[in-house]
Amino acid sequence: MTFTELGIIEPILKALKEEGYTHPTPIQQQAIPVLLEGKDLLGCAQTGTGKTAAFAIPILQNMLKGYNSRDKKKIRALVVTPTRELAIQIADSFTNYGRFTGLKNTVIFGGVKQGSQTKELAKGVDILVATPGRLLDLINQGFINLRDVEYSVLDEADQMLDMGFIHDIKKIIAKLPYKRQSLFFSATMPPDIVQLSQKILGDPVKISVSPKQATAERIEQEIYFVAKKDKPALLYHILDETNYFSVLAFTRTKHGADKVTHFLHKKGIKAEAIHGNKSQNARQRALKNFKDGSTHVLVATDIAARGIDVDDLALVVNYDLPNVPETYVHRIGRTGRASASGKAISFCDGEERAFLKDIQKLIKQEVPVISDHPFPDDGTIVASQQQPKPAKGERFKSKSTKKQNTYRSRR
Ligand code: AMP
Repeated sequence: MTFTELGIIEPILKALKEEGYTHPTPIQQQAIPVLLEGKDLLGCAQTGTGKTAAFAIPILQNMLKGYNSRDKKKIRALVVTPTRELAIQIADSFTNYGRFTGLKNTVIFGGVKQGSQTKELAKGVDILVATPGRLLDLINQGFINLRDVEYSVLDEADQMLDMGFIHDIKKIIAKLPYKRQSLFFSATMPPDIVQLSQKILGDPVKISVSPKQATAERIEQEIYFVAKKDKPALLYHILDETNYFSVLAFTRTKHGADKVTHFLHKKGIKAEAIHGNKSQNARQRALKNFKDGSTHVLVATDIAARGIDVDDLALVVNYDLPNVPETYVHRIGRTGRASASGKAISFCDGEERAFLKDIQKLIKQEVPVISDHPFPDDGTIVASQQQPKPAKGERFKSKSTKKQNTYRSRR
């Protein structure tokens, strides 16, 4: 299947060619025809599947086809997404795919002064990409009116709910015209998300794309059995031995991410944490530093890592194994993007062995175990559970003393 066969018009085809897209991804193959017909869409898909182009391309095409000079400088398409990082990426995508259409977009998000954003809005835009808080704020101040919106996209809905945006979302939806095409995307579909989608969508076409096996097959994976207390030292050992330059490490908690980062700093490794407790600016800075190579290790929680699109990611480390197997696939998909291959290493302590079982069942693969490392573990859980918390400054001691110490991350 090609983009021409999907009925994409010439100005957009030309831009896609320049982007180097030869074939539509599975989600694009499914979503584009439905959206070109003007139907509502409920999409269960994660970032990394080509989801942005799956909605941006048909929206651009529909807008261009239905263009009327009276529409100039009216916000006809609105995309709401939870984080600033995602908002910027989506707006960039609209700019790239729409560069020969003459349609203009702008992006607004909180955590920065609003002056430059309102200036752009005043010039007039066709497509607005926004995070919920700043969008409502600028609507309330009279800088934005949603009465002309014909296409609305709610992106990463589950993350939006996790971040507590539900009331903002409901207020935004209430300001949209009744007659419009609505798109709703979420990586997971728990009951509260399904409920929200029903409030927003008419009679949607449902599509679901899982990158599961395809991703897992492309990526070289390894498991290290290690006691919880030895995880920091093992991480350092691997980074030290291999000289990996661009590593994304996942922890289960924000606190855990900070702790690992702090430990790596002390060991002289350039690391930064990215998670929900960091300000927008701090997150953006950490991402920029990682992308330009000034930080070598980015330690992230799952939610903060959504939307991180880094080319040339050398290695993903599952410092903590996730208890939801799909999350494992999502995480390792950060390396080996598009058609590249990648590598993912997972630490597994005694408590996490059950998670590993579920993961292997999902990916239908037995992940090779690396036992030749300085901190092998036989899977006993007792030690990390029962030892007292070490006094401040006693953690991460040299190898000779580390056996008496315990590293515990607060869940
Ligand atoms: P997304 O899921 O929208 O974040 O996209 C993930 C990555 O895939 C981005 O880097 C896109 O540029 C890339 N991408 C999207 N569609 C295609 C395509 N048809 N061919 C090649 N790369 C693509």
